[in-house]
Amino acid sequence: MKTTTRVCNLCEAMCGLTVEHSAEEIHRIQANTQDVFSAGAYCPKSQGLADLYYDPDRIRRPLKRQGDEFVEITWDEAFTSITRKTKELQRQHGTSTIATYLGNPNSHHFGNLLALPFFLRSLRTRNKYSATSVDQLPHMLAAYLMFGHQMLIPIADVERTEYMLILGANPTVSNGSLLSGAGLSSRIKSISKRGGKVVVIDPRYTETAAVATEHHFIKPGTDAYFLAAIVQRLLVTPRLRHLETMVTGLGDLTNLINSLPLENIQTMTGISQEVVQNISEDLLRFDRAVCYGRVGVSTQRFGGVCQWLINTINILTGNLDREGGALFTRPAVDIVNLMAKSGSCGSFDRRRSRVRNLPEFSGELPAATLADEILTPGKGQVHGLFTIAGNPVLSLPNGPKLETALASLDLYVAIDFYRNETTRFAHYILPPVSPLERDHFDLVFNAFALRNQVRFSPRLIDPPGDSYDDWGILIELCSRLSASGNRLARWRQRAMARLLLRLGSRFVLDLALRIGPYRKQRMSLKKIAANPNGIDLGPLTPCLPGRLFTKHKMIELCPPPFVAAWTDLCTSSLQQSSGDRLVLVGRRSLKSNNSWMHNCPSLNKSRNQCYALLNTEDAFARGITDGTKIELSTDIGSITLPAKVSDKIMRGVVSVPHGWGHHRKGIKLSLASSTPGVSLNDILDDQAIDEFCGNAALVGQAVTVNRVDRS
Ligand code: SF4
Repeated sequence: MKTTTRVCNLCEAMCGLTVEHSAEEIHRIQANTQDVFSAGAYCPKSQGLADLYYDPDRIRRPLKRQGDEFVEITWDEAFTSITRKTKELQRQHGTSTIATYLGNPNSHHFGNLLALPFFLRSLRTRNKYSATSVDQLPHMLAAYLMFGHQMLIPIADVERTEYMLILGANPTVSNGSLLSGAGLSSRIKSISKRGGKVVVIDPRYTETAAVATEHHFIKPGTDAYFLAAIVQRLLVTPRLRHLETMVTGLGDLTNLINSLPLENIQTMTGISQEVVQNISEDLLRFDRAVCYGRVGVSTQRFGGVCQWLINTINILTGNLDREGGALFTRPAVDIVNLMAKSGSCGSFDRRRSRVRNLPEFSGELPAATLADEILTPGKGQVHGLFTIAGNPVLSLPNGPKLETALASLDLYVAIDFYRNETTRFAHYILPPVSPLERDHFDLVFNAFALRNQVRFSPRLIDPPGDSYDDWGILIELCSRLSASGNRLARWRQRAMARLLLRLGSRFVLDLALRIGPYRKQRMSLKKIAANPNGIDLGPLTPCLPGRLFTKHKMIELCPPPFVAAWTDLCTSSLQQSSGDRLVLVGRRSLKSNNSWMHNCPSLNKSRNQCYALLNTEDAFARGITDGTKIELSTDIGSITLPAKVSDKIMRGVVSVPHGWGHHRKGIKLSLASSTPGVSLNDILDDQAIDEFCGNAALVGQAVTVNRVDRS
């Protein structure tokens, strides 16, 4: 029996764990109190690491579809057939007839992240999609347009701030997002304990609101107006401090923001002028203040504008790149610099999607239009798909439409270890090993962490000899698919893939560490491995203007694309609850993150987490009480689930968690199927989108709510 330290990869918090294990058994998973980053914080989801390893439903050998069934095949058979069919389709319809979809878990696997650029290059497709465009795209776009790099996302300095304004985020439950810091709940509580203030703006009185100083309900989808009203007030006496010489476009921004009359802010958002005034004053009164907004504000019709305005608030209060405000990280593997060196700072609107004319971001098209690209005939139609660690049937709006699209594909390859709501349509499923059977290193989330630090988690259990990790699968496919381009290009691609296979992902990671910002401290994989609790690299520190990637090394306050989006905002009439209809928002629970976690015994023991939360008055008007079965209907479809009645949600709003709906035929998730829940995305409209940036507008869609016996 051994005890090994490990960083949990199941969410962005990156908690340090200790795992008691033998060669093939996991005995106990606990918090690592000595971990340099999390110091003993963790959550119940950590037990999912063992559940995943033992899960009898986890696929361990490649599968091939035969009629309605799947049969096991060898890895070589799988790679050979997939390569042949991919090439056939590309010869017939062009290279972009094969699309790719990357799910969120890719960000948690350094092997995937290192291999994906090679794999995508070997496919040479322009049809690339990912969960980014149903999630954090607005953050990345704002970073790209304002600071010149899509990954230069400012991190709220929760540890040192005196005032935190939180919108559309519930870090007490999610444990932080684009804000990696284990134990965020107690860190947020500490702000008020040290005399500061935490203000939560949310249509729901969330678990974070419960530990905040103040909470205000906001009508879903109206955050851009609220943020604009704050910016209008800050522009009266902006306090740029050290940023004075680093910003450009202040005059243009002032003219633009003042062009929108916001006297009726209460009617528009539900938040009074007085509250807006007080918050604006507090943002300037506190020396160290920060505004942080996450998925609830990103996934709405003006989500792009929201993230631009949030950065603007932090700039106009002089709190960007300042202790206690919003700072940039300096991780041991500096993905910002590595991407810049390879010319990947970002891109926006270089081309448009074929069917709906939506803009690309960083080479990807909006995922909400993937089904259109598969179902709409014509030149450029998608006939083949690779999904990698994603479950878009449950993650993308209008799941049923995507199901129809997936069923029509000529080739669908899923790299996944579950037969889930999406992968059940696959022709081939290639399963990587489980997390504890491979090395782990946080390439992405260290770039969004509250503190600079570095940790490496070697694999704990040796995987079976004939298995592949994600890196191996992608590089192997790459070596076989590299048959496009001229002969020299083909040879180069294949030689590179073979070399990478021989060197392994550890070699590439070590190289990235050795050339990173801590090279003078002789940073290497060996050095990190010798420190099982990790190496602390210090607090976040100011780094501008040196870290800016904009043309003139200035922060762009008023980038032209946002001007166009602003015009849209000014002329828009938002969909509001009216008459019988309520508006939808999502919800997160502590024991759920991604859909596959619902198959973990340790996380699926408690009461049903998939229920609709609605306000007491709305419920009363419809004869609904706790536990009543209700039907939620939109033009897309309807779902039936139990109701929970509460005053902790705004009138006119109904909240449903996402990631459920495991009742579908053909999946093999035994435990999840016994408590299936329903998928919120079965009723969300895929046409509802932030047209400006292409991010899905999941928040604020109108829905009819009825008791089942009355519908
Ligand atoms: S908070 Fe996230 S990283 Fe920490 S133990 Fe839970 S799932 Fe793992």
